[in-house]
Amino acid sequence: MGRALIIGAGGVASVVVHKCCQNAEVFEEICIASRTKSKCDALKEKLDGGKTKITTAKVDADNVEELIALINDYKPDIVMNIALPYQDLTIMEACLATKTHYLDTANYEPPETAKFEYSWQWAYRKRFEEAGITAILGCGFDPGVTGVFSAYAQKHYFDEIHYIDILDANAGDHGYPFATNFNPEINIREVTAKGSYIENGDWVETEPMEIKRIYNFPEIGEKDMYLLHHEELESLALNINGIKRIRFFMTFSEKYLTHLNVLQNVGMTSIEPIMYEGKEIIPLQFLKAVLPDPASLGPRTKGKTNIGCIYQGIKDGKQVNYYVYNVCDHEACYKEVGSQAISYTTGVPAMIGAMLLLKGEWKKPGVYNVEEFNPDPFMEALNKWGLPWKESFSPELVD
Ligand code: NDP
Repeated sequence: MGRALIIGAGGVASVVVHKCCQNAEVFEEICIASRTKSKCDALKEKLDGGKTKITTAKVDADNVEELIALINDYKPDIVMNIALPYQDLTIMEACLATKTHYLDTANYEPPETAKFEYSWQWAYRKRFEEAGITAILGCGFDPGVTGVFSAYAQKHYFDEIHYIDILDANAGDHGYPFATNFNPEINIREVTAKGSYIENGDWVETEPMEIKRIYNFPEIGEKDMYLLHHEELESLALNINGIKRIRFFMTFSEKYLTHLNVLQNVGMTSIEPIMYEGKEIIPLQFLKAVLPDPASLGPRTKGKTNIGCIYQGIKDGKQVNYYVYNVCDHEACYKEVGSQAISYTTGVPAMIGAMLLLKGEWKKPGVYNVEEFNPDPFMEALNKWGLPWKESFSPELVD
C-alpha cells in the first residue's frame, strides 16, 4: 500500500520498524534514516528478509535541506518522526516543501528551554491545509493513545466529560539503581519541570512532584504517583466537550526520586552550558552519556506498565465514571520485538497512526492531534497490534 520514511533509530524507532515489518501489507517499503547510520543498518540487518523492503539513509534532521533531498530521493507517502522533539519543526518544514504527510510522537521543544507546548506546531495548520497534507501530532501512548481513549469516551459514553485523570504507571524493574526508560535528556527535562494541570480553563502550576497520590492500579497494585505537566492536557482541554479539570500522573519509585534529587541538587540535570576543561558542556547531556542507554534495558526489565485514563462526566443527565487502560508486560515486549514496554507502547501507536493515514481513514489536510480523528479504527487496531485495552465503569477515583 505505501512507503514510509522513519526518522530516528533509537528505542521507539526500533519498535516502529518491527511493527511496520509485521504489517507488510500496509508498509510495503520503509527507509530508516537517522544521524548514526550504523544504527539504521543494524535494524535493517535484524529485520531484512521479510515482505517489507527496507533501506537505510543518513540524515541530520536538524537540517531542512538534507531532509528535503532525502524525501525527494525516497519519495515516501509519509514521514514518521521518531527522532527527538527538537526535530519536529525542521521535519514539518521538509514535509511542506515536498508535500508529504507527517506524524510524530512528541511535541516540539526548543533545545535551549525545557518548555513544550503545541503553539509552534499548531502554527503550521494553514500551511498544511493549503498543501493538502496531513500532520498527526503526538501519536505515541501519552500523548497518543490517551487522546484516542478520550475521543472514544466522548463518542460512545459521554455528552460531557468534566474530569480527566491520565494515569501512567510503570512497575517495571530493570535492576539498575537509576536509569530512565526513554531518552534520558527528554525524560529528565520532563520530570524536573514544574507540574501543572488545567482547571476551569486555566493552567494551575505546581512545584515539581508537589502533588502525590497513591493509586491501586489494576494488575500492578498500589503505586505512588505524582502530578506532572504533560502535553496532551493542552489539546484535550480544547478538543473534549465540557472539561473542568485535566490532570496527568506518573508513578515514580522512592529510589528513582532520591537519585533524581541528588543529581538535581548537584547540578547534573541543568541544561545551562558550563565550561569543563576548556570545552563547553551541558550537564544533562553529560549525564545522558553516563546513564544506561534506554535501548539496553529491554533484556533486564521485568514487570508491567499500566497507562490509562479515568473520565467523569454525564450522559443523558446521569453521572458516568469510565476507566480505559492498557497493561503491557516488559518481558513479553522484549520477546516480541527486543524492546521494553515503554518503547513498545510508544512505537505501536505510531505505526497504527501511520497505517490509518495510509489507508485514508485518518487523512485530512491540516495539523491535528489524535483526538481529532475517528477513534474507532484506532481502538480496534490497538487490540490487533499488541496493545489490548480494558475498561471499567466503576473505577477507583483519584481525589
Ligand atoms: P532515543 O534517544 O532512543 O532515539 C532518538 C533517535 O533520534 C536516535 O536514533 C537519534 O540518533 C535520532 N536523532 C536525534 N537527533 C537527530 C538528528 N538531528 N537527526 C537525525 N536523527 C536524530 O529516543 P526514544 O526512541 O526513546 O524516543 C523517540 C521519541 O519518542 C522522542 O521524541 C520521545 O520524546 C518520544 N516518546 C514519546 C512517548 C509517547 O508516549 N508519546 C513516550 C516515549 C518517548 P543518534 O543515535 O545518532 O543519537
